[in-house]
Amino acid sequence: MNERDSDQVAKMLAEKGYRVTEKETEADVILLNTCSVRDMAEQKAIGKMGMLRKLRRVRPHLVLGYLGCMAQARGASLLETSPHIDLVAGTQKFHRVAEYVDELLRKRIEARMDSEQLAIVDVDEEAGSQATIREQNVRKGQCTAFVSIMQGCNMHCAFCIVPQTRGGERGRTMEDIVAEVRSLAERGVRDVTLLGQIVNLYGRHEFPKREGLSPFVQLLEAVCAVDGIERVRFTSPHPIGFRADLVDAFSRLPKLAEHVHLPLQSGSDRILKIMRRGYTADAFRALVERLRAARPGIAITTDIIVGFPGETEEDHAATRALVGHVRFDNAFVFRYSPRQNTPAATMEEQLSEEVKEARNQDLWSLVNEHVAEKLDALVGKDVEILCEGASRHNADRLTGRTRTNKIVVFEGAPRHVGQIFDVRIERASSSTLYGDPAVLEEPVFG
Ligand code: SF4
Repeated sequence: MNERDSDQVAKMLAEKGYRVTEKETEADVILLNTCSVRDMAEQKAIGKMGMLRKLRRVRPHLVLGYLGCMAQARGASLLETSPHIDLVAGTQKFHRVAEYVDELLRKRIEARMDSEQLAIVDVDEEAGSQATIREQNVRKGQCTAFVSIMQGCNMHCAFCIVPQTRGGERGRTMEDIVAEVRSLAERGVRDVTLLGQIVNLYGRHEFPKREGLSPFVQLLEAVCAVDGIERVRFTSPHPIGFRADLVDAFSRLPKLAEHVHLPLQSGSDRILKIMRRGYTADAFRALVERLRAARPGIAITTDIIVGFPGETEEDHAATRALVGHVRFDNAFVFRYSPRQNTPAATMEEQLSEEVKEARNQDLWSLVNEHVAEKLDALVGKDVEILCEGASRHNADRLTGRTRTNKIVVFEGAPRHVGQIFDVRIERASSSTLYGDPAVLEEPVFG
């Protein structure tokens, strides 16, 4: 979501004549789009902003600002933490950033005011802001894109700061979203990921059900019907939003990619209840089974929090048992991090960092066994990939993604980029598959 929001801001700045530079030392404007989900992310952003201040010695006109969730949560107090910043723009203000930057840069160049007088803080709510993350630039060879379909969340899980930083659920209209997807497809995009904090409950308070289908499933149908789009993904859903129509969509919409990110958070019913997650471990297990029955071979990944307040060894064992039962394709395991103004932050029985770390390590090693098992099972098989371009770690190689969202690195040629084809998997590392398109009997391209 932050990546997509940052792209939108960059696009709006480009429309005003700004260019992106890779070098901080060349920049006239540096904006940090921030995350508040864990304290560590906030501390990193504040530390980074402290370092950026030094650039003002050689570029006194440099505009510095915070955007996004931390800006929203902390607002004007960031001017005390980082007194040298010019801009604090919240999550409903990304579309205003370019005009604020223009104004700030002009004033800085004219050196009319010092920092304190210059600063703009805008973290107000703004009706319709969910519809402003739209229309995007497509780079040459770009074949995947994120599409923001909604903002906010009404769920109020006990550990989560998102409802404070992103506000209540607000969806874009279906017509608007489909128009964006169509425009992306016309420019070569073949794989879209629909984004929302609680994406599968899209539109539940705003748009009617039709023929028993939720607004989200109606939207999936409409996006799958766009010519040129071959793969449709979505993130992040909530397990309670997987009603029969959505599970069934995996049986009848072939463009829906075989991957669901299904946040578990805990495998203990007691902890799930305190977390206010709205499901039990058994319900989660049953959902995994329904998804696997609807689309055999579907990959399931998850998020897990270890060390939630009051979590006992028994609770941790329950999470371990569930992880062992489901055998996720991958999992993000996080140590619980207290977030301001959330119910869990003030709960008694906060656990020590040592306990959190031990449980984190324990789950990681279990998850990694399952990841290795899933990747090893693909060695020797032919899998369909969409080639996304040069590998991040080795520019001489190309990288692609399977329908199950696994990364495949291979020796290829520029003509492969943006194409969908089969690759034979030759080996697997702990997180990546390595393949060879050349061993296929049929030529990939004529
Ligand atoms: S559903 Fe997700 S975004 Fe919403 S409160 Fe819960 S964890 Fe946060």
